[in-house]
Amino acid sequence: MVRKYKIAVLPGDGIGREVIPEAVKVMNEAASVITGLNLETHEFECGGQYYLKNDREWSEEAETFTKNEADASLLGAIGALDSSGNVVRLPDGNLAGYSVVIGLRRELELYANVRPVKLYEGVPTPLANKSPSDINIVIVRENTEGLYYPARGRISEQDKNLAFDLRIITAKGSERVARYAFELAMKREGAPVDGTKRVTCVDKSNILSGCKLFRESFDKVGSEFKDISKDYAYVDAWTLFALRKPEFYDVVVAPNAFGDIISDLGGAIQGGLGVAPSGNIGETQAMFEPVHGSAPDIAGTGQANPIAAILSVAMMLEWLGFRANDQDPIEAAKLIRKSVEDVLREGQIRTADLCLGSWEKVKPATTTEVTEAIINRM
Ligand code: ATP
Repeated sequence: MVRKYKIAVLPGDGIGREVIPEAVKVMNEAASVITGLNLETHEFECGGQYYLKNDREWSEEAETFTKNEADASLLGAIGALDSSGNVVRLPDGNLAGYSVVIGLRRELELYANVRPVKLYEGVPTPLANKSPSDINIVIVRENTEGLYYPARGRISEQDKNLAFDLRIITAKGSERVARYAFELAMKREGAPVDGTKRVTCVDKSNILSGCKLFRESFDKVGSEFKDISKDYAYVDAWTLFALRKPEFYDVVVAPNAFGDIISDLGGAIQGGLGVAPSGNIGETQAMFEPVHGSAPDIAGTGQANPIAAILSVAMMLEWLGFRANDQDPIEAAKLIRKSVEDVLREGQIRTADLCLGSWEKVKPATTTEVTEAIINRM
């Protein structure tokens, strides 16, 4: 029996509205090649632009469908500017669209933020003497607690000069994200340097209590995975190690804020935000999004690289396939990745963000031209 997958599509703001439709085109093309794959997309507006018109961040219908009916969701980016060029904010000061992203992560308990850091052939990396065979890491960031848990504020109205951000870390939150990291490592081929399946716990447990608990949880879960090598690094040192010897790393797991910061470092070494996909994954639901934001500086110019969004679709299909034990979405994900790889390797059709180094003289292609090239490969 052909299984149908319902997907909430939320382009959001800025270049999210440009790259998500392209990613959906690629997804539909994959579904037409892999017969038997039935994808039903439901698109909804959300974010700052929507808030300006409707005084809410998304419609009730969008929220209900995304939270209760969708098998997975695909989000573009949140963050709009108003007519005076100011960022559209909610009365509480948060970015309009905040509750779509942060709300989904928290309410659906999408506890693992997964960011593959893979350098594709044909993509310039700022690391000298490193090539695609050296860079293939997945950073797994705890996504629901830690420093980004909303326990923050000023001590009092009277004393506005004292602010606090409580960093809540629990054993449950730490263990489940550690388990995700170890299970992921089981499925991968190990670190580029030696093929060893390795999970590195990146924290600051020499100082912080939350990090001590995070590391204890990592060790507890890790003891069940005898075939996986356990590795440890303090977050400050890890940034240096990752630049010097990225080939040593396979899967890396970190508490929320540290994971956020090291993921951007990962984004840089894999060639920038234009090629960085991500997934927010929970027990039964998941939301996928390119790592980049709404990039108002290039929105509307046709320069946005759609590859981060397209690779996010591939992650989503793979997740759907593993969850339902269905080979069709997994095959579709492989097809999409292979087509992206081919277009990047061939090198002549690429957006401006990738026209660097050996590709400096390539005439930049538009968002749509890159999509067309990928679809043609399929
Ligand atoms: P946020 O604060 O939500 O991260 P932002 O707009 O400040 O959003 P990003 O959107 O993440 O920041 O992007 C930073 C810069 O990187 C942009 O200004 C843009 O020039 C570049 N950039 C981001 N995404 C892409 C992309 N898909 N293609 C090309 N360039 C991109």
